[in-house]
Amino acid sequence: MTAQSIATAAYIVAFLLFIMSLAGLSKHESSRLGVVYGIAGMVIALAATVGVATKDAEAVAVVLLVVAVLIGGAVGLWRARIVEMTGMPELIALLHSFVGLAAVLVGWNGYYETEGGHGDVTAKGALVIGNYAGLQDQLDDANTLLHIHHAEVFIGIFIGGVTFTGSIVANLKLSARIKSAPLMLPGKNVINLGALAAFAALTIWFVAAPNFGLLVAVTVLALALGWHLVASIGGGDMPVVVSMLNSYSGWAAAASGFLLDNDLLIVTGALVGSSGAYLSYIMCQAMNRSFISVIAGGFGIEAAPGTETDYGEHREISAEDTAELLKDASSVIITPGYGMAVAQAQYPVADLTRRLRERGVDVRFGIHPVAGRLPGHMNVLLAEAKVPYDIVLEMDEVNDDFADTSVVLVIGANDTVNPAAAEDPTSPIAGMPVLRVWEAQHVVVFKRSMAAGYAGVQNPLFFRDNSQMLFGDAKARVEDILRAL
Ligand code: NDP
Repeated sequence: MTAQSIATAAYIVAFLLFIMSLAGLSKHESSRLGVVYGIAGMVIALAATVGVATKDAEAVAVVLLVVAVLIGGAVGLWRARIVEMTGMPELIALLHSFVGLAAVLVGWNGYYETEGGHGDVTAKGALVIGNYAGLQDQLDDANTLLHIHHAEVFIGIFIGGVTFTGSIVANLKLSARIKSAPLMLPGKNVINLGALAAFAALTIWFVAAPNFGLLVAVTVLALALGWHLVASIGGGDMPVVVSMLNSYSGWAAAASGFLLDNDLLIVTGALVGSSGAYLSYIMCQAMNRSFISVIAGGFGIEAAPGTETDYGEHREISAEDTAELLKDASSVIITPGYGMAVAQAQYPVADLTRRLRERGVDVRFGIHPVAGRLPGHMNVLLAEAKVPYDIVLEMDEVNDDFADTSVVLVIGANDTVNPAAAEDPTSPIAGMPVLRVWEAQHVVVFKRSMAAGYAGVQNPLFFRDNSQMLFGDAKARVEDILRAL
């Protein structure tokens, strides 16, 4: 058995583990196992790749490779250990940017291998030329392969570049280092379409006559397009953008796989690319948006200053009075949002759930598909605090039940419970499905101020007759309620 055939077998095992990982991650109950499959697949893939790469390599190359893996692994482990749950979305965006950058570097390397002029040509086409020089038809084949190789280089750099800067902007927006409001350059759709047309034209030119200048041009074009695409998307559409960048990073990896002749990278990239694309589709459905309208629109554009509607006065409630409401309630639905993650309130919320259920109250959770800052954010937090899975329901499973519910506790949610989305066609988030919490008998909203949510849109829920605001940090307020109970 050759080293290559062992590696191929290892790749098939890793590939199957990745599929099992995705399948496991699609359900709460099996998600831990899904993560274990993913780790096992990645260890096998890395070991096989390093094994093949170092088989005939010089000692210095092996040392460099091992050092790089160790440094990368150590940094990854350190970041994963210190990252707060609220910092996960921006970390994921940053990781996507690395995939994009790697694809750009692999693309440039692919160009230098065939066009660098140092004779060390490993690309398929060039190898064929070397082996069969003199035979016209095989030379033609070689030329075709070389054209394909050039197209791979160009497309890989383009996808990688868009992913790189797009993910950096997503990271800055998610970490609130730049505003989430969309950049509204005049003719932004024309800019995007123009960039795509320019890319198509440059690709044809590069395949016909590859040169350094064109490669620089496509790199700059891709970096600018990635930056503009994400900068011009509004806060409310960020969930779709995050899953879209996830998908791009997969295609960028697949493009690198073609260049490096690595089947596992092609297959894994395609898996990430297609599952990310499907996630984007689910997110678009959850937000009632089409993919094109996300790219072209500005969902969640902040209202211009001075256009705030006067909804009247809000009412406040204390933690003690909330406890009284809960004592008399027969059914309670908790709708958590990003604020629960910020406050790390999931543990006292889980205690509160236990206490109320012991008193015979029917307690359930209603989870909006884009609550928090990453898909499944709330589910992860509640699972961490050991809230039973069977009372954690999706928006569609719970939305018709609010009308028969005594008390809804809105814990750090805002955009996902905004009635304007359902009732005000002029609202920037009009059409986005939301949790209809306002249909319940009593609504208690936990937040620190009257500030707007991530999409920057005012929330009329806070001014409804059946709504009361419980101000303060969500964790501290839930603990106060527990004491009062
Ligand atoms: P929002 O971001 O709309 O609102 C969160 C609320 O929590 C704020 O109004 C804030 O009010 C409150 N809050 C913050 N910290 C605390 C705290 N310590 N204690 C109590 N309250 C707190 O949250 P939602 O989950 O309802 O909506 C998610 C938004 O994020 C949507 O617009 C979605 O599109 C977007 N998004 C979602 C992603 C995803 O994949 N899920 C990815 C990217 C964006 P205050 O400051 O007054 O306390």
